Amino acid sequence: MKNRLRLCILWVAAALATAQVRDPLPVPDLPGYRTLKCDFHMHTVFSDGQVWPTLRVLEAWRDGLDAIALTDHIDYQPHKDDVRVDIARPYAMARATAEQLGILLVPAFEIARGDIHFNVLFVTDFDAYRGLDQASALRVARQQNAFVFWNHPGWRRPKAEWLPVVDEYYREKLFQGMELINGPNFYPDAFPWIEEKNLTLVCNTDVHGLTAWEYPNRTRAITLVFASAATLESLKEALLARRTVGWQGENLWGTESYLQGLFQAAVKAESSELRARPGATVSLRLRNDSALPFRVVVRQEKGWLRGVRPVELRGQTTAALPVSIAKEAPGGNHSTDLLLEVTNCHTAPGRNLQVRVPLRITVTQ
Ligand SMILES: [Zn+2]
Ligand SMILES: [Zn+2]
Repeated sequence: MKNRLRLCILWVAAALATAQVRDPLPVPDLPGYRTLKCDFHMHTVFSDGQVWPTLRVLEAWRDGLDAIALTDHIDYQPHKDDVRVDIARPYAMARATAEQLGILLVPAFEIARGDIHFNVLFVTDFDAYRGLDQASALRVARQQNAFVFWNHPGWRRPKAEWLPVVDEYYREKLFQGMELINGPNFYPDAFPWIEEKNLTLVCNTDVHGLTAWEYPNRTRAITLVFASAATLESLKEALLARRTVGWQGENLWGTESYLQGLFQAAVKAESSELRARPGATVSLRLRNDSALPFRVVVRQEKGWLRGVRPVELRGQTTAALPVSIAKEAPGGNHSTDLLLEVTNCHTAPGRNLQVRVPLRITVTQ
């Protein structure tokens, strides 16, 4: 055991020495909460994945994540002739690496019944699940106070459906969350269920190969969790309390207040005092200190203040948002809030985030 640990430490040290660099992936905290960047759905060679458990931890560290779960299939092990069948092994093997790199590692697994898959997080005893069917396993998960979510609700279907089996589990309170986003897939038909059924929104990669190949340039699906501290206990509490936002590539999904908090903490107006003649177009410079992308468009607030075109406010950039001053604009100093719609931040089906940016504008004659 000692030798194995030493070997593991050496391996991590060697891996880090060969130019491992962490993406800082800045995402602001919210008042009272740490924002943890998480991926709760990943596979390794212990089921149908192609990488070793420790590599998943290194990938997560490089990608700027704070917490992950290795969720190998408990009931599908195509590599079983070459790799030992033991659902507890991926977590056990990756734990030391995670501790050294400061990544929270959640003990977890995935369990199927046909196309209906669930992930069980915060497993306290892997042995208790051996040989169980899905319904029995989810009941054990409830006894262990696990956090359980329904995976990829539209997988292998034309659209997501609230299936009878899922409804039975829901009525029995066997799961608390749902993947609204799995890898590159968003399930629009499932979006209403987040509010209607009071589910926790999660957004994960379900990665099987190398993450860098499947999700280059910050396209990795990430669940942002607002936890009171960076601990497993706080992470679980936050998941059960539904304090999450999903982020995949160009889009974010989540409760209005969390998306509002993220935007307000990330984006600052660099030129909130403007001067212009009637009929002119001015530029409102918006600086985004976070890695989150925002796409903003002016939604008319004052009749004489008008949007010109939408602006992409990419991660860690400043964008100039053109605002035109109508010819009939009254002269003098005006204090106002400019109303913007953030068209890539989705608060509910068909609804996007709206934000206000305070503005002082002097209209000269
Ligand atoms: Zn699955
Ligand atoms: Zn999976």
